[in-house]
Amino acid sequence: MLIRLLGTGNAAQIPVFGCDCRVCARARVDERYRRRPSSAEIVTSMGRYLLDAGRTDLAQWLDPSVLRGVILTHYHMDHVEGLFHLRWGPLAPIPVYGPPDETGADDLFTHPGCFDFSHQLTPYEPTVISQELTVTPIPLKHSRLCFGYVLEGRRESVAYLSDCDGVGPRSLDTLQRAKPKAVIVDCTYPPGMGRNHFSLDRALEFAATLAAPRVYLTHIGHGLEQHLIDHPLPLEGPVSVASDGMTLSVE
Ligand SMILES: [Zn+2]
Ligand SMILES: [Zn+2]
Ligand SMILES: [Zn+2]
Repeated sequence: MLIRLLGTGNAAQIPVFGCDCRVCARARVDERYRRRPSSAEIVTSMGRYLLDAGRTDLAQWLDPSVLRGVILTHYHMDHVEGLFHLRWGPLAPIPVYGPPDETGADDLFTHPGCFDFSHQLTPYEPTVISQELTVTPIPLKHSRLCFGYVLEGRRESVAYLSDCDGVGPRSLDTLQRAKPKAVIVDCTYPPGMGRNHFSLDRALEFAATLAAPRVYLTHIGHGLEQHLIDHPLPLEGPVSVASDGMTLSVE
């Protein structure tokens, strides 16, 4: 299967509305530097799954005939906003897998449209979504009930950990046992800044404890991007910054 990152920005996105910093100015003239809100797509031979749906333009290009489900990390608006538009499609119920958050986001639960939000997942319990995809929810430290996921193909796995400001001992143990070939992890802020999300120093420290061969930073804010222009990550190291459109394959 493939995991395609469609949105690697934080809620502010890049460019940030009204901001003329060099990062936002660059993204306004060069599409490659844009960062949209958290969204990803898991492509399997039996259909596709959204992994978060923060982008509001999904209806313009997502093929409804292959959409088999949605997997949500949490109900902060920058991860679910796209569902507000998609839900009115005349489609058979599409399962939405996610944390047991009683309030969800705004009126999604009272007016679910084509989405079936009843598929609440249990922490640490592997759930078979299809023959090609098993997901294990990993509770993350964040300002709202939030799951990361170990996404398991037939032989390999990848961990998707957004939004995150650390994990408890059981989550860490589960991640270490899973031995993911790659970790995609929240890194919103420059070193020493922010809360509820990793800053660069804390993200790197956390990633080192997982010893994954590859680490991709996501949920990137413009302040971090400014920092990275002046202090780029070492090219030969395991850590790199994700970008919108980046694709990982998982056997
Ligand atoms: Zn800016
Ligand atoms: Zn969040
Ligand atoms: Zn977020």
